[in-house]
Amino acid sequence: MKQVTAVRVGNMKDPDPEKRGLVEVTDVPVKKPGPGEVLIKVAYCAICGSDPHVIGGLFGWDAPFGIGHELSGVVAEVGPGLKTGIKVGDRVGGNFRNYCGSCYYCTNGLEQWCENATEEPGMAEYVLWNEKQCVVLPGDVSLKNGCLIEPVSVAVRVMDKTHIKIGQNVVVSGGGPIGLLNLQLANLYGAANLTLLEPNPARRELAKKYGAKYVFDPLTDDIRAETARITNGRGFDVLLEVSGIPSAAELLLGIAAKSARVIYVAQYARGYNLPLNLYDQIYMKELEITGTFVSPYTFTRTAQIIGRLDLDDLTAQVFPIDEAKAAFEAHLSGKYPKIIVQCSPDMD
Ligand SMILES: [Zn+2]
Ligand SMILES: [Zn+2]
Repeated sequence: MKQVTAVRVGNMKDPDPEKRGLVEVTDVPVKKPGPGEVLIKVAYCAICGSDPHVIGGLFGWDAPFGIGHELSGVVAEVGPGLKTGIKVGDRVGGNFRNYCGSCYYCTNGLEQWCENATEEPGMAEYVLWNEKQCVVLPGDVSLKNGCLIEPVSVAVRVMDKTHIKIGQNVVVSGGGPIGLLNLQLANLYGAANLTLLEPNPARRELAKKYGAKYVFDPLTDDIRAETARITNGRGFDVLLEVSGIPSAAELLLGIAAKSARVIYVAQYARGYNLPLNLYDQIYMKELEITGTFVSPYTFTRTAQIIGRLDLDDLTAQVFPIDEAKAAFEAHLSGKYPKIIVQCSPDMD
C-alpha cells in the first residue's frame, strides 16, 4: 500500500534543498488485524501543523517513518473478539494514540501520559487501530470533514480546560485550524465579546463567519487599548494562545482579567521561556495558566458535536496521496487554512 513517509529529517523550510526535510510516497505492507484490532481503509488524512515539526526532528525519530494522524476512513477488516460493536463498513475517525488502559496514568484518569502508548502512521491507504481508538462518524458528517475529528478533539480538550462560563469574555490568539475550531466552540459555549487576534486577513474573515465579534491584527492594532475598550478595562476571562508566537504568548498576560484562565495551546519552541511576573499575574491577578497535550477523553463527545461545526473551509484544499509532496508545499505556503490528503481515490 501507499504510505506518506518522511524519508529525510530536517527543517522543511531549510534554504538548502539538500538538508530540507522530505516526504515521499513509499510502498509498505498492509497489516493484518489481530484480537481487538480493526483495519481501516483511510479516506482522508489532514496535514497537521505539527507534522512539519515532527519531520523536522521534534521527537528525535530517525527516517524513514510514516506520518499522519488526522484521518477518517471505513472499516475494511476486523480481528477477533471485538467488544464495541464496530463492524466492516462503518465510517470512522478517532484517536491516533493507542493507550494501554492498564498503567498508572491510564488507571488514574490521565491517559495522555500512558507509559505504553503506541501509534500507527495514518497518511496511508490503510491503518491498523485498536477498536477503542475508533469512533463512528455521525451520518451527517462526510468522510472529508470527518478527518478533522482529531483536531476538533484537541479544541474540545482546550475548552474542557477553560472551565468557561456562559457570558465570559474570550479571546483567541492565532487563526490557524485549532484557533478557528476553538472560536466556533467558544461561540457554542456562549462566549461574550469573542475576539480573534490574527495577522492574516483571510483568516480574520473566516473568524467573523465563525462567530467572532471582533478581529484584530496584533501586528498593527493596539490590542491592550482595544481590550480595555471591549471589556470595560477588566480584560478577557478566557484566553487561548494558539499561534505559538512568543510575542503573542506574552501579550495575553497583559490583557487577562483578574482570575482569568490562560491556555497555552500551541507547540512552542523548546528553548522558549515565557517571562512571568509572579507579583502582577499570580499574586495580584490569580491567573490560572495551563496547557494541553493531545486530547484525552474527548473523542466520543467530539463525535457528538462535530456535525454542528462549519468545517467546509478547512477541508476545501484536497491533494491525492500521490501528490503528498505538493500537499506539504501548499501547507508550508500558509496560503490555505488547512490541507487534506485523499488517501484512497474511490471514497467520498
Ligand atoms: Zn494534529
Ligand atoms: Zn497506559
